[in-house]
Amino acid sequence: MSELEEAREITCPHCWERITVFVDLSAGGQSYYEDCSVCCRPIAIAFETADGELASLSVEAAE
Ligand SMILES: [Zn+2]
Repeated sequence: MSELEEAREITCPHCWERITVFVDLSAGGQSYYEDCSVCCRPIAIAFETADGELASLSVEAAE
């Protein structure tokens, strides 16, 4: 795990469980899909960075 990887708690937009995702801040902002670890449904995650720190994180339901 790189030191620029940061654990974040999000709420799954499908099942509303709190889950932890890891965001890699080394490459700047990204958007990607990750399956919820509870309900296994896809979540669209998008984040932006500023000065190597997480600036914003958005989570949407993806089907
Ligand atoms: Zn879920």
